[in-house]
Amino acid sequence: MFCPFCQAEDTKVVDSRLVHEGTQVRRRRECLLCNERFTTYESAELIMPIVIKSDGRREQFNEQKLTQGVLAALQKRPVSTEEIENAINRIRQQVRLHGEKEIASRDIGEWAMQELKKLDKVAFIRFASVYRSFEDVSEFKQEVDSLSNDST
Ligand SMILES: [Zn+2]
Repeated sequence: MFCPFCQAEDTKVVDSRLVHEGTQVRRRRECLLCNERFTTYESAELIMPIVIKSDGRREQFNEQKLTQGVLAALQKRPVSTEEIENAINRIRQQVRLHGEKEIASRDIGEWAMQELKKLDKVAFIRFASVYRSFEDVSEFKQEVDSLSNDST
């Protein structure tokens, strides 16, 4: 790509490393003309499936929405930004690997819950209570009980 500072065509890569658990390549480039340095990120462009909502409506997969839901559940919890990013990456990966053109929003919610369960139990409960429409209170209680039996 052209140098963003002087629009020169020739830039060289001075450093290259994998980031976000290997799903992106981060490159430091240097312009051969003005010697300014800049960073580029490269990731595979993959088509995400269409999400089927519980009322049957379809919408584009919205990573922003997923991130907001996960962040809301993790509010004021002792989990690092990196751990959160990695969890969201894993969820996105699962959406991609799903292999179908359409995917139920419920499935994405379940994957998000699995990740949250590993990260923080309070966040998991928060997310689950919003995202999953529990059939009745006993189902929710079972979920909470299964957490206390969980050794992790
Ligand atoms: Zn330049």
